[in-house]
Formats: sequence, structure tokens, C-alpha cells
Amino acid sequence: MTFYYSTKNKSIKTRLEDAVMGGLAEDGGLYMPGHIPKLEDKVLNQLDAYTFPELAFELTKNLLGQDISHQDLKKIVDQAINFEAPLKRIHDALWSLELFHGPTLSFKDFGARFMGQLLGYFLRNREQKLHILVATSGDTGSAIGQALLNVPGIQVWILYPKAKISLIQEKQLSTMGHNITALELEGTFDDCQKLVKEAFADKQLRQKLLLSSANSINIARLIPQSFYYFYAYAQLKQNNEPCIFSVPSGNFGNLTAGLLAKKMGLKVSRFIAATNINDTVPQYLQTGIFKAKASKQTLSNAMDVGNPSNFARILDLYQNRIEEIRKDIFGISFNDEQTKIAIKEVYTKHKYLLDPHGAVAYLGLSAYFSQQQLNTKPISGIALATAHPGKFADDVAKIIGQDVNLPSALQEIMKKKKLAEPLTNSFSEFKNRLLASEA
Ligand SMILES: *Cc1c(COP(=O)(O)O)cnc(C)c1O
Repeated sequence: MTFYYSTKNKSIKTRLEDAVMGGLAEDGGLYMPGHIPKLEDKVLNQLDAYTFPELAFELTKNLLGQDISHQDLKKIVDQAINFEAPLKRIHDALWSLELFHGPTLSFKDFGARFMGQLLGYFLRNREQKLHILVATSGDTGSAIGQALLNVPGIQVWILYPKAKISLIQEKQLSTMGHNITALELEGTFDDCQKLVKEAFADKQLRQKLLLSSANSINIARLIPQSFYYFYAYAQLKQNNEPCIFSVPSGNFGNLTAGLLAKKMGLKVSRFIAATNINDTVPQYLQTGIFKAKASKQTLSNAMDVGNPSNFARILDLYQNRIEEIRKDIFGISFNDEQTKIAIKEVYTKHKYLLDPHGAVAYLGLSAYFSQQQLNTKPISGIALATAHPGKFADDVAKIIGQDVNLPSALQEIMKKKKLAEPLTNSFSEFKNRLLASEA
């Protein structure tokens, strides 16, 4: 059996089931796998012989194969990873990995669906209802909701900051109904996260309710995000040459999953941590000082995070050695003006439409290439396109001066009625609402 430890205290260890059901460790730390095995050479050396679900299965066996039977793992993977992640060339050695072909058109579908399947698996023999608390800055909420809609034994609470997400995002996360309750919070995303953290720390709540988190802090969200790094590399078909990934980052779950992929043997020479003006991590890489800040609102709002929760995992993976972190991660940030210019230029020159998050990743890659690659041999760079541009249709249309088609799934959702309940940012109000649901 593999164990999972807390980033705050390595002697707090638990098994997979408790790490997935609990989300956060008792001491407020984040769970990390006690052992991250390298993938077998026979798989690593011929990644392109596998389909995406096959590759996902190999990786799941590698990480969880001692805890869940291979037969059950196969079912979990096949239900969760049932959409494509195509790699498209933007120009030259710059590629876009499209992670937005899932049901909510964002990369968060990977983590959410995999976690949903694992929770369903672990809940199959339990009596008590599981309450899932999700703080979202835009996309997480709907991805979790869709992944858990009508899963027996689960109640989902989505907390989102009022008027700080797009209309489409709000429709997506607030119209599901059934076991998915959306709470519209008077405050920022950081306030949403704070309420969720307080709920987990509240002894009385934990006694009365079985609570779990579905933010990127849940280890079950992190694990499947490592799969598409391998699949991207497989699609490059480039004979074991290393590549670069540019990751548009907010809470840094996506980038942490990339680091896991590297630990499992993927040939990555560098990760680019590309952020908007919420640049806590690029600043840390530059100065060596981690200074959490209040989040600022931007065009790429799913990355408006001033105190990225997965940073603790990155420090843990590198045992706090900043020089080692700097070798693997290059940090850079961009403002909205630069993001808009990138969307317009890439669309005009290369006929490829980026969403604001993908555009930040693209900018990171271009900047890195122009700074570093002058004297070295060309290397492929992959920008992670984390959302469909149609999710930000209004902004993107203004930028390119032309209408953007809404995917049909979104057109349907726009017709549905918002079912969100209002909430202030007082913890006691939130707590009473949760308790009332079981009364
Ligand atoms: C959540 C999100 C991000 C940021 O991902 P992290 O794992 O939090 O760093 C980037 N882009 C989109 C579209 C997102 O929804």
C-alpha cells in the first residue's frame, strides 16, 4: 500500500482512501504521495504507441496500482478520461495542448472527473453523505459539479465570488441543481477559499458532517493532471528529446502535476510558470521571498490567485531548495494588455484562437524562447490551452473584432435559470447553512 503524507508534517501519514475523502490533512497540510515511482522503461520508451486512455491507465497503475485493483482502476480511468487532448502546432516549435474538450470545456474536467470516480469508488460501502466544499474563481465549480452531478451519496457546495466571474461561468456552475448547490459570496475568491479552509478546521462541523474538498488541493485532482503531459509528449513524436511546457498558473495544481510527470520519467527540460499580474510565484523565483498577496482581477480570471495553495507541494517536492526549483521552473508574468495583444496576433498571423489563459501560457513560451534559445538548438515548447476560447466569448470577440462561436453545450446552458443562493463572507452563516442541510 502507498501512503500519503502531509506537507506540514511528514510523520502524518494516511492511506489513499483517507487522503481522497479528506482532501486536506488534519494539520492543514496538503497530501503528497509517499512514493512517486518512475514509469517502466518499456512504457517510457514508446509513449506514442499508446492511446490517451491507455496511457492514463499505465500511469494510474503506476501511482495507485497497490491500492485499487487494476480492474477497478481501468473502469475509473475509462469513465473519467473519455475525451481527447489534441496537440496543435501554433507556429514553428510552439505547440498548443488543447485541454478543453471535456464537458465544461476546461482542463479542470480531468481532475474533477477522476476525483469524482475515485470518490464514487470509495463511497460505495459507506452510509454517510459526503459534503464537498469547492471554492472557485471561475472554472473549478462547474467542472466539479458536472463530475459529481447525481452521484449518489454526494452533496456539492460551490462558493464563488459575486460579480467576479463571467456570465457563462456563472451559468455553468449555478444551473445544475439536484445535489449541486451554488453559493454566491459577497467577497473575493480568497474569501471563498478562506471559508472553505475554516470549515475544514471547525471541529463541530467535522463531527457532524463528512467533509471533503475538491479544490486542486485534493490529491485525486492532481494525479490525473499528470497524464496529459505524457500524452502531449507522445504526440510530439520526437525521439526522446526533452521539451518545455508553459503552464498558465493560478493555484499551481497544473504545474505541480507536471512536476509529478517529470518525476515519473517524462523528459521535460523546463517548466514555465506563466501568470497574470497575480505574480506571487514569479516574484518568489526572482527574489527568493514568498509573499502572498490579495488577488487582483484580470482577464484570465481563473488564475487570479494571490496565495497559491499548491506552492506548499512544490516546496515539498524540492525540499525547499530554491536553486533546484529555479533549474526546473522559469517564472514570468503578463498583464491584460499583453494578453490581448497575444490573442489578436496569434489569431491574425497564425489563425489560431487562444483564450486569455492559454494566451498567458503562449506569452510565457515566446518570451522564454526569445530569451534563452538564441544559442541553443531548437526545442519544442508546449503551451497548455486550459480553456475553450468560447468560454470567454465576449472578451475574445472584442479583442479580435469578430464574433466567437459558442460551443453548443454552452448555448444550452445559457438558457437555463440561475439557482445560486446569496451568502455573506461570515463563516458562521456558511456553517449554519451546511448544518441546516442535514437537519
Ligand atoms: C484553474 C485554471 C487555471 C489555473 O490552474 P492552476 O492549476 O490553479 O494553476 C488556468 N486556466 C484555466 C482556464 C483554469 O480554469
